[in-house]
Amino acid sequence: MVDDRWLNGQIDMVRDIVARPMNIRSINDAEHRLKEVIFKQSQLKHSLIEAREALKQMLAGFVDHLAEFADSTSDYHDKIEICVQKISKADDIGQLQDVLAEVIGETRIIQINAQRSRDDLRASKQRVEEADKRITELQGELDKASTLVRHDQLTGALNRRGLEETFESEVARSQRRKSALCVALLDIDNFKKLNDSLGHEAGDAALIHLVTVIRDTLRPQDTLARFGGEEFIIIMPETPVDAAKKAIVRLQRELTKRFFLHDNEKLLITFSAGVTDLRADDTQTSITKRADEAMYAAKKAGKNRVVTG
Ligand code: GH3
Ligand code: MG
Ligand code: MG
Repeated sequence: MVDDRWLNGQIDMVRDIVARPMNIRSINDAEHRLKEVIFKQSQLKHSLIEAREALKQMLAGFVDHLAEFADSTSDYHDKIEICVQKISKADDIGQLQDVLAEVIGETRIIQINAQRSRDDLRASKQRVEEADKRITELQGELDKASTLVRHDQLTGALNRRGLEETFESEVARSQRRKSALCVALLDIDNFKKLNDSLGHEAGDAALIHLVTVIRDTLRPQDTLARFGGEEFIIIMPETPVDAAKKAIVRLQRELTKRFFLHDNEKLLITFSAGVTDLRADDTQTSITKRADEAMYAAKKAGKNRVVTG
C-alpha cells in the first residue's frame, strides 16, 4: 500500500510535467520520472491495473506532447505513431518499458536535432547579421572611396576622373538623342595675385565660393568639374551654344552680386570662359581644346568675359 501510494504520487507528478508546455528539460524530467515509475512498478511484481492504465495514458500523453514539440519531420511522427499503437496494445509493464525505451530513443534524436537546428539557426542568423553589418560598412567605405575617386576634395566638384566619366555618358546621350551639348571652360582671373596677397587659404575659400555660386546658378542637369587648379569645366546637356553662353554670362553677373568675403572684406572674383558645342567626330580632348582656346581668347580680350569657339 505504501508502494501504491508512492506510485500514484509519481504518476501524478509525471502527469503534471506532461501537462505543462514541453521543453527539453520537462521532457527529460518526465522521462526520468517515467523510468522510476516503471522500475518501481516492475519491482512490485503484481498487477496494478489502474496504475498501468494511468501509466499508459500518461505515456500516450507524453508522446502526444513530444509530437507537438517536435517539428513535423514525418519520420519521427511515423515512429511515434507506432509507439502509440504499442502503448495502447501493451498489457504489461514489461511491454510498456520497451515502448518507452523506443520513444525515448526517438525523442533523443529529435531533441538533438531540434537543439542542433536551433543552434544552427542561431549561428546562421548571427552570420547573416554580421555579413549585413559588414556589407553596410563596405558600402559606406565604397561610397566614400567613390566620392574621393570622382570628386575634388576641396570643392566637392567632380575631379578629372569624374569629369571623364560624366563626359562620356553625356556625349553618348547627346548622340543618342541628337541633342546639343555644350562645354564651358572657366579660368579664374588673376588668381595668383589673390593667392599671393591674401594667402593660399583665402584662395581655397575663393574656389569654394565660386563652386557654390556655380551650383546655385546652373541647372541641376549641368555638371561641374574642377579641371585643374583654378580652372573648371561645365558640361551643359541639351543646350545650344548661344544658350550656353547666356548661362555663363548669367553666372558672371551672379558672381558680381555675391561677393567673396575675406576678413569682412568684399572681394570680386571674376573668370574668363570659353564655350563650345559638341560636333561630329569630337572627342573629349578636341572639345576641351576648343573650349580652352576660346577661354584664352577671352583672357586676351581683357578677361572677365565669355567667348564662344
Ligand atoms: P589669369 O588671369 O591669366 O588666369 O592668371 P592667374 O593668376 O589666374 O593664372 P595662373 O595660371 O598664373 O595662376 C593660377 C594660380 O592658381 C596659381 C596657383 O597658385 C593657384 N592655384 C591653383 N590651384 C590652387 C588651389 O587649389 N588653391 C589655391 N589657393 N590656389 C591654387
Ligand atoms: Mg589657369
Ligand atoms: Mg587663372
